[in-house]
Amino acid sequence: MNKKRILSGMRPTGKLHIGHYVGALENWISLQHEYDNFHLIADYHVLTTNLNSDSIYQDSIEMLIDWLAAGLDPKISPMFRQSQIKEHAELHLIFSMLATVNRLERNPTVKDQIRDLHIENVSYGHLGYPVLQAADILLYKGDLVPVGEDQVPHIEITREIARKFNNQYGEVFPEPEPKLTAFARLPGLDGDAKMSKSLGNTILLSDDAETIKTKLRKAVTDPLKVRKNDPGRPEVCLVFSYHKKFSPSEILEIETGCRSGALGCVDCKLKCTSNISSFIAPILEKRKYYEEHLDEVKDILTDGENRAQKVAKITIQEVRDKMRLG
Ligand code: SF4
Repeated sequence: MNKKRILSGMRPTGKLHIGHYVGALENWISLQHEYDNFHLIADYHVLTTNLNSDSIYQDSIEMLIDWLAAGLDPKISPMFRQSQIKEHAELHLIFSMLATVNRLERNPTVKDQIRDLHIENVSYGHLGYPVLQAADILLYKGDLVPVGEDQVPHIEITREIARKFNNQYGEVFPEPEPKLTAFARLPGLDGDAKMSKSLGNTILLSDDAETIKTKLRKAVTDPLKVRKNDPGRPEVCLVFSYHKKFSPSEILEIETGCRSGALGCVDCKLKCTSNISSFIAPILEKRKYYEEHLDEVKDILTDGENRAQKVAKITIQEVRDKMRLG
């Protein structure tokens, strides 16, 4: 039986943080044997919120290195840049005729981005972001898309576009389903709901122990636990939310120590530093290897782009045939 296909992608914003790992990468890695995966470096998508393209290539390479270091296997799944497969742009153009402006303006994710990033004039490309995303997914006929909750409305738009195309021209595309991750979000070091590079509140997958220690020192904890022996409330503490992920075997002990006042925040943060560092250590080591073998990284990208291109070409021909474009 054919494996179901997954299209998963990220905008290349350079080195990844532990929030990317917990919210997406970990899930991708666990799915790579069970499904047929295509991993997209969504470099065109960067332009929706930042017109400066100077660092897109380098950021793509940095992100690819983190994917590889974290455990994605390029022999199993192609990894490729959106901008190198011209069929993404062609399918996006066709799909843009199928999506109404009204529908795109109702998309809550774009509304949130406009609010969070204080964007005053939304570009045509930004509004149409989910249309390009639909092209990204459907070009490879993805059955499933691993996403965080905030991306679910986009997948709904993809499903609507697939349905509309199939009804209008004939069956070509599946209607993909979102595949939500179990541990979808890690809060930022400043207590913000989201770890985000633009907010400067991240721990990178490439941070060493000393850097993590410095960053965690400033992390917000329970404001009522002022002195070391004050009883604390782990449920309101950011550091505890990191412990839940990175200190699973000690979590009861940490919780009890915090509540009773036996554990102080300084020691608790040191424990957290140590556990995050141990978790990252093998990723850091692999990253070092790839940084020293950049030709290998570039070959992986070329191979992924060749493999993706073959699939994209077949789909676009099918689309053209159904539309009688020749
Ligand atoms: S002891 Fe740990 S869990 Fe409790 S408030 Fe301090 S940092 Fe948070």
